[in-house]
Amino acid sequence: MPRAKRILRTTSAIVLVTFALGALTLWWRYPKRACDSIFTRSAAFTFADIPKGRALTDDELDSYARRLMAEMTLEEKVLQMSGDAYLSYALPWIIGTPIAAWPAGTDRSLGVPPLRAADGPRGVGVGSETTCFPVAMARAAAWDRDLEQRIGDTIGKEMRAQNANLWLGPCINVVRHPLWGRSQESYGEDPYLLGEMAAASIGGVQRHNVMACAKHYALYSIEETRHTVDVRTDERTLREVYLPQFRRVVDAGVASVMSSYNKVNGDYAAESRHLLRDILRGEWGFRGIVVSDWFDGVFDGPKAANAGLDLEMPQVAVFGHRLLDAVEHGQVKVERIDEAVLRILRLRIDYATRPDAMTYGPALRRAAAHVSLAREAAEKGMVLLKNDGLLPLRRGAIGSLAIVGPLADADVLGDHGSSIVRPLSHVTLLAGLKAALGATARVVYEPGKDLEKARLAAQTADAVVVVSGFNYLDEGEYNPYTGVPRKDWGGDRKFLGLKPADQSLIQAVAAVNPRTVVVLVGGAAITVEEWQEKVGAILMAFYPGEQGGEALARVLMGDVNPSGKLPFTVPKDDSQLPGFDDRSPAVTYGYYHGYTLVEKQGWVPRYPFGHGLSYTAYTYANLSLNAKTMKADGAVRVSVDVTNVGSRPGEEILQLYAGFSASKLDRPVKLLRGFDKVALAPRETKRLSFTLRAKDLAYYDSHQQAWLVERMPYGVYVGSSSRPADLLEATVAVVD
Ligand code: BGC
Repeated sequence: MPRAKRILRTTSAIVLVTFALGALTLWWRYPKRACDSIFTRSAAFTFADIPKGRALTDDELDSYARRLMAEMTLEEKVLQMSGDAYLSYALPWIIGTPIAAWPAGTDRSLGVPPLRAADGPRGVGVGSETTCFPVAMARAAAWDRDLEQRIGDTIGKEMRAQNANLWLGPCINVVRHPLWGRSQESYGEDPYLLGEMAAASIGGVQRHNVMACAKHYALYSIEETRHTVDVRTDERTLREVYLPQFRRVVDAGVASVMSSYNKVNGDYAAESRHLLRDILRGEWGFRGIVVSDWFDGVFDGPKAANAGLDLEMPQVAVFGHRLLDAVEHGQVKVERIDEAVLRILRLRIDYATRPDAMTYGPALRRAAAHVSLAREAAEKGMVLLKNDGLLPLRRGAIGSLAIVGPLADADVLGDHGSSIVRPLSHVTLLAGLKAALGATARVVYEPGKDLEKARLAAQTADAVVVVSGFNYLDEGEYNPYTGVPRKDWGGDRKFLGLKPADQSLIQAVAAVNPRTVVVLVGGAAITVEEWQEKVGAILMAFYPGEQGGEALARVLMGDVNPSGKLPFTVPKDDSQLPGFDDRSPAVTYGYYHGYTLVEKQGWVPRYPFGHGLSYTAYTYANLSLNAKTMKADGAVRVSVDVTNVGSRPGEEILQLYAGFSASKLDRPVKLLRGFDKVALAPRETKRLSFTLRAKDLAYYDSHQQAWLVERMPYGVYVGSSSRPADLLEATVAVVD
């Protein structure tokens, strides 16, 4: 039999067996009576009876949701609490070509539009005609709420154009350690920055009646043991370090929250009464739905239902029959089921009846304006870490450019797990540089496998650009289900610095040409100690999205003045980081990581949190506060002058930190409490103001189970990075 035929036969056999087994499992798990009634009953009240095209009031939403629920049997209600992904849907996804969003709540007789979920966070994960933005970490480096809101807005439009209404983003886990494989999907190490960026993104997405889903609640930041690890932490650390950004998005009106796979203090997050019932709903008043993470995201259905999980995804696994039995045996009260179903119906009715901002035709998919936005985001997210005057490269002055490194000509769009986005085309870094310089300079490309060839190319060039770092094989979502070899599962990164071969390449090239720029590709901090002194410039490009090549060229050539700043600390080595253990069944997260750790210890990192250079320079002056004291429920206005003292226009990111050195408690040296971005022409000065609220200075007292504001003087620091030398200082006291 010819090889092709054999492959076809084997594949068909595997597909058939998988289908048969899957169908059997579903049949076994599904409350069959529910399916029967869905097809046979006729409802007295359906979605068609609800007014559309205007925002319904809370009371109306409640009442319509109740009337719909009144039409349902218990079996039907329970069905609302599981996704509807049959294998016919899942297969294309498993083999890597998702064609449609994950459905949930399909119910023919009631007619409420189902949930249709598609992944984020770097765009829309279904279909091939969607815009691939830079990863969230790159966007965090832009520290630009307006830009992130516009990206969210664009994602919202593309979601609707793909007939999807539940966006599985943003990812807002604190990046505690750079080796976490999914760091790139999140907005960095600081909960304040995370919360601000996420709120902006959610505002944009939800404007188009697409529900956002903030994930993964909570303490997810290890890949390889993500399904099993028990992350232990004390209550104060949980509240102050790992949850503030979730609180922020709840306040911003996020429609849904996804529970994480891991355990938190002994309970799976999806089954944690403390996380879901006490904190999320009880304290924060969250009214949206909690969705489990996909496959193996929840194990004990009754426990999860009692804890407050509303929807298991993507199909019936531990709800379904299991939940019906639990109700029958008194383990789960019917009221719990009703609460969950009401929340689900309420949300679906809400989003399906609001007036739309526009119409969403297929022409919106990867529209030209969306592609330009991807380029703008890449440009604004690149961080110039070091520059000895080598950059920008001046077009006329560069007769020949050597580009070195395999990543220059590779897919550097980011992880190939759930966050993958498949644009029809993208501009590699090499293509971008060639297009920008090809007409005026000789551009030579050396992948770098052969050190001698790379050295030769570098020796004769006016400047060298080495592209180095990681790709989806080195870091990304740990996904052991896809049938690909273990080495290609992504997962946690193994190297804090560049791989030895990449370091040798930089050393070899820089030794013959000091006019070497290193462009770093990766999702989080990469240490640079071994080679940073030998090169003229270092630019962190992250995974810069589908227009990354063009953006990189514009930044290197000075068409764009870099303005990005680090959303994380770059340590000198791993002694400046908390431990990272992706093997043990249980880990403990302490109070300090990132800049709070290095500052508390008095260590000097290689590049501090918030660091980023520009082709111009800024000075800060006249820091002033409108009051010397404030009450515990008060606020103070903080103002500062910032001047562009260079000769190029630029954008500066101002950072506001609050300092706690007067505290008698164990507190960080300082915490980010505000930021802003301002465009300045050469020699222009602008005065900017921030509001610092006393409640943002609070700490969590575990004994009193309350947030308390210490009556004491607080440092107020404003400047260009978290480095003390970059900050102006003032003081405000909180008094009775
Ligand atoms: C990931 C989620 C994702 C989901 C659906 C899971 O493996 O952890 O972030 O949204 O898959 O694709």
